[in-house]
Amino acid sequence: MNHHMNRRLILPVLATLLLSTAGFAQANTFSTDGDNAPGHASVGGGVDGARPNIVYIMVDDMGYADLGAHGCKDISTPNLDRLAEQGVMCTSAYVTHPFCGPSRAGFMTGRYQHRFGFETNPAYDPANPYYGLDLNQTTFVERLQKAGYRTGGVGKWHLGAAPDYHPNNRGFDYFYGFLGGGHDYWEIDLLEPVAEGYKQGLVRNNQPATFNGYLTDALSKDAVGFINRNAKNSQPFFLFVAYNAPHAPIQAKEEDMAVHAHIKNDRRRAYAGMVYSVDRGLGRMLDALEQHNIRNNTLVCFLSDNGGPLAKPGSPGHGTGASNLPLQGGKGSMYEGGDRVPFLASWPGTLPEGKTYERPIISLDLSMTAVALAKADANTGTPLDGVNLIPYFTDEAEGDPHEAIFWRRRNGIAWGARAGDLKALKADWDKKDIELYDLASDIGETQNLAESRSEDLEAMKALYRAWNADNIKYNFLDYAEYHPVRDNFYKNEMNP
Ligand code: CA
Repeated sequence: MNHHMNRRLILPVLATLLLSTAGFAQANTFSTDGDNAPGHASVGGGVDGARPNIVYIMVDDMGYADLGAHGCKDISTPNLDRLAEQGVMCTSAYVTHPFCGPSRAGFMTGRYQHRFGFETNPAYDPANPYYGLDLNQTTFVERLQKAGYRTGGVGKWHLGAAPDYHPNNRGFDYFYGFLGGGHDYWEIDLLEPVAEGYKQGLVRNNQPATFNGYLTDALSKDAVGFINRNAKNSQPFFLFVAYNAPHAPIQAKEEDMAVHAHIKNDRRRAYAGMVYSVDRGLGRMLDALEQHNIRNNTLVCFLSDNGGPLAKPGSPGHGTGASNLPLQGGKGSMYEGGDRVPFLASWPGTLPEGKTYERPIISLDLSMTAVALAKADANTGTPLDGVNLIPYFTDEAEGDPHEAIFWRRRNGIAWGARAGDLKALKADWDKKDIELYDLASDIGETQNLAESRSEDLEAMKALYRAWNADNIKYNFLDYAEYHPVRDNFYKNEMNP
């Protein structure tokens, strides 16, 4: 049903924009390193008084179990462990969706993305002006920008590839990275079919850009460059570093795999190398903040956009080598492995260090936390669903930050709700029964309590229904559905 609705929506715009697409994709003048956005005065110590710098690092498809602070034994993550020691490790932290695009849409707006129909991954299509983060939504980065923050983004966008959706038009003064959902770690090849854009050129602000060497290292270098350029400004900065690692393609540097020679499984060894390269980048950012003497003025948070993808029985190629143990399920799942992610928050001198925070929180809270710390306007624009986490981390606020946390896939073919330690879920479109788990005693979701605690089950269902009443239908196709539609359009309607 939605399929046909979207065909009508999408197809007319393709014809008008066909020519401009070709020009966009084939642009071949690359900018070099450097910030093309206007410069500004360099006077202060990195903060303008009470407002801290904020660095949010989001990785892609990293498993819950894959950092040392979570007990990982085979992957080396010294800088993630350093960040955990210098701050708060949140063990019940969630994202708003078990895969990339919708999770980022929720994070970027600070609002459940179901409120505005973003429940599927947008295909990479620079020609489609409907295919991205609803232009009526306010990003939290726009709020920070209006409040006087210098805002930068590095890495993966995945919130629309058409010009209106460009990060520079959604609150970022500076952006270096790629606009699709992923990228090859070694090469750009403009002669490859566009497909999902994995070999398309990068962008630096509005200019085509490239990278040298290994992509994760290039993103780290650019992120450190942003810190270096802005550390001495009178205005505080916000930096969003969105690594596509350790998302597929599973490509690691030989030297990073060599560090993990003890891992016998080839795929996990390469995955470990990818995580290790992210960890090295985090270390360089922390070092830069320390060298500029602004570490204590900077909130640094780390999270993954969803759980690690697991190999499915019969199709081992789908796993990346990630592990979400002891959680059940992985990327795409309504079980904990889909949405529960590594999540660290560090602000030395303000937040406690070496603390474990176990109450349920969600990525939306990072958006609201940034708005609160920036003293930015939270009241105009679209509503924010998150809470400021700082008082919870410092024990000024008690209790759970949320009455409940929710997930929904595709108008509700699958959904989940967590309230306190209870979790209810509908696992998939072909599963009719709602399952109920007590995560305090059963983090692996192995003992379904739906029958023995039917009153609790009904209460959870009521919470979900109340939340869902404010949601709308999803309003664009995902890439698997969209590409055939687009290809048929080109074939049949542009060349009748
Ligand atoms: Ca992802």
